[in-house]
Amino acid sequence: MAETTSPESSILETAARLKGAPNEGRPAAFLDRDGTIVVERNYLSDPEQVELIPGAAGALRALGEAGYALVIMTNQSGIARGLYTEAEFRAVQERVEALLAAEGVELDGVYHCPHHPDFTGPCECRKPGLGMYRRAARELGLDLARSVYIGDRVSDVVPAQLLGGKGILVRTGYGADEASRVPAGIAVADDLAAAAAMVLGVA
Ligand SMILES: [Mg+2]
Repeated sequence: MAETTSPESSILETAARLKGAPNEGRPAAFLDRDGTIVVERNYLSDPEQVELIPGAAGALRALGEAGYALVIMTNQSGIARGLYTEAEFRAVQERVEALLAAEGVELDGVYHCPHHPDFTGPCECRKPGLGMYRRAARELGLDLARSVYIGDRVSDVVPAQLLGGKGILVRTGYGADEASRVPAGIAVADDLAAAAAMVLGVA
């Protein structure tokens, strides 16, 4: 859509500038998918194998109701490795979204990195790279510094430190092993439900 400037919006923009208020977007909950929202299956490629982690849907619903955009950020190197195709990834993703929709959860965005440096060379999107976060911020109007970064790998949560947000490692999936390697400043929660409670200040 082309950018339009109505008198109203230019007045608001000017008012914001005069007050020194930055024109910030909404905060996001950046969520790893496998091992965080759904049970880790080690290169999940079969929709039949999709199983929500207990409490995950309720956690997402609560974060959404609190005003967080719900954005999945998922490394899918299985595509680069030839273990499954983009179409198979999408079929799994559709199943995830159907199970979440049945629990009243609608996602605001899904970003995936299909690369792996050993197979497809370097890229900017593979976590902990920041490419997917910057793209989501642009496309969805997000404030990266007020966002939360939740996942079961250290690579899911270190972007929080680089972007000024809050990182929470969950102990589900690979998280039990990764928890010993979290850098200072990153919180650890038992699962997504506990992470959401931490974010929402009810833990
Ligand atoms: Mg994971």
